[in-house]
Amino acid sequence: MKAFCVFALCLCLAIPCALADDGIFVKPIEDLPQDFYFAADISSVIALERSGVKFYDADGTQKDLFALLKEGGWNMVRIRIWNDPFDAEGHPYGGGICDVDIACEIAKRAAKNDLSLMVDFHYSDFWADPGKQFAPKAWKNMTLAQKEEALYQFTLDALSRIRATGAQVKMVQMGNETDAGMAGETSYTALAALINAGGKAVKEVYPDALRAVHFSKPQFNFPREIIAFGAEFDVYCTSYYPYWHGSLENLISVLTQVQKTYGKQVMIAETAYPFTMDDSDFNGNSVPGDGVTMDWPLTVQGQADALRAVTAAAKEAGALGVAYWEPAWLSVPGGSWEDNAILWEKYGSGWASSYAGSYDPNDAGKYYGGSSWDNQALFGFDHRALPTLSMPRFLRTGAATVKQRTGFRPCSITTESLDDLRLPAAIVALYNDGSTNAMPVIWDTATLEKLEDDYQVSGKTIYGDPVTCQIRLLITNCLQNPGFESEDIAMYTIENRSGGEVYRSTSINDCKSGKGLFHFYDGDGSVDFTIAQSVSNLASGLYQFSLYIHGGDVNASDMEIFVLINGEKYASAPMSVTKWQEWQHPTISSIPVNEGDIITVGARITCQGKGPWGKLDDWKLIKE
Ligand code: CA
Repeated sequence: MKAFCVFALCLCLAIPCALADDGIFVKPIEDLPQDFYFAADISSVIALERSGVKFYDADGTQKDLFALLKEGGWNMVRIRIWNDPFDAEGHPYGGGICDVDIACEIAKRAAKNDLSLMVDFHYSDFWADPGKQFAPKAWKNMTLAQKEEALYQFTLDALSRIRATGAQVKMVQMGNETDAGMAGETSYTALAALINAGGKAVKEVYPDALRAVHFSKPQFNFPREIIAFGAEFDVYCTSYYPYWHGSLENLISVLTQVQKTYGKQVMIAETAYPFTMDDSDFNGNSVPGDGVTMDWPLTVQGQADALRAVTAAAKEAGALGVAYWEPAWLSVPGGSWEDNAILWEKYGSGWASSYAGSYDPNDAGKYYGGSSWDNQALFGFDHRALPTLSMPRFLRTGAATVKQRTGFRPCSITTESLDDLRLPAAIVALYNDGSTNAMPVIWDTATLEKLEDDYQVSGKTIYGDPVTCQIRLLITNCLQNPGFESEDIAMYTIENRSGGEVYRSTSINDCKSGKGLFHFYDGDGSVDFTIAQSVSNLASGLYQFSLYIHGGDVNASDMEIFVLINGEKYASAPMSVTKWQEWQHPTISSIPVNEGDIITVGARITCQGKGPWGKLDDWKLIKE
């Protein structure tokens, strides 16, 4: 309560600021440590500048990116380093061409602008992440012991050259997102050995710098394993992109646990959030995408709110700081993909050039291009600083703008009958300062319409704003565990005649909804089984039975769904499988049920092929 009063007082005092209009609302984070790191990873900056990219402040005055960061309250720059990001002919792989030469240029400018440095060694010639940890070309045929020595020498040389620029290196990452190993090595033994080889060089060049390890998502097992294998380090770093890496609660829990269990410091080494759905450089963006939940609106205010939430979580967990990944990876100045590609290829300002294909044929070799991050930058598509570039400053001072309504909280109800709709009397209006307000609504039930799965009714607030309410009709499924979500599948009778794999399993990618499903497969080429469920005590009337199936690698098949009434076959409907995610939905309608009948519904599957497989999900027996 006390905190709330203090904040309310701040708001009152901030009225002059509100008149100045900061462009966003930001509630300050109380007691944020003065030395909290706000790092900006601007590794692509030199390649962008060489491509003709210019940076502007909010008023449109061209400025140096480092000066803009300093003005925004950032106190640290993070840079990635690749060993040799060039092909045999000397063509750059792209992604900012982040070799030691480029790192030194960035280091020099960071020092000039009083920004400290966090160095991120990938120990690869190009991107290292959970999906790839390719050894540098020069280390390819080395033994682990030889790699340790080469890694030590490379780190020693790179940091010595960076030290000569006058850079204040505070932290050095030995590896980038090393979930699956490092420099072509995949065992924890090797990972720990390589981390220690790098850490030894760090201590020799920058005795006061913190030695960091870095993983792609907050998971306790990563630090636990490398510590068990003898890795020595000071800071556990994790990436945390809110749309990919789970809840803030889990983030806080893992960061807290690592400090408590191992006495290590912690930091969020990468985060970001989009301010728009749009793209500015003709190269599609990483997010949003299918199956990815965006918890904040894709607006500048949403970006601010996301960054505040991540920073508040970091502070709550006692982290050293937060690094924002590539806030300035903007579009190069071309009017088409082809125009831009000339600059990406020549200056390495896209995520990968075509030349990177010789090193990384399956990813860079196929999908090379520009920036997939321009909608997560802290600059607009006009290259002017967004208000969010000042987040480090605003998180201490607070920020305010003109209060505006940003939308309405989605309205939805469930009902057993459309004849008896109980629509909400009000809808919740949302504002950019985070406040809400209930607005009375006058619904027009004559607008009731059927959507794909649900119904919708329209109305107007008492101020005349058009709003809608989704209506979900509750239809009772008479089957138990119809989507295989529960582990207990005793309600199903299964007859496996061929001995292939038939069992319940879980996979978000393979199921129709939820995560449970019923799986079948046979490596020897033949599956033959029946799965069924019987129901009694149904009210008399007409019923409908259906299920979903997909699968593949089948040459010949005989599959059907069927209905038995009191043990006698009533009806069947044929089905087949084609390929993954191509769902079939066989249905049997108008099943006449009398009181006391026992209804059995099921699937009979017989198929042959080279490893035939399939998944059954979302069974449904409903009264019509
Ligand atoms: Ca883009």
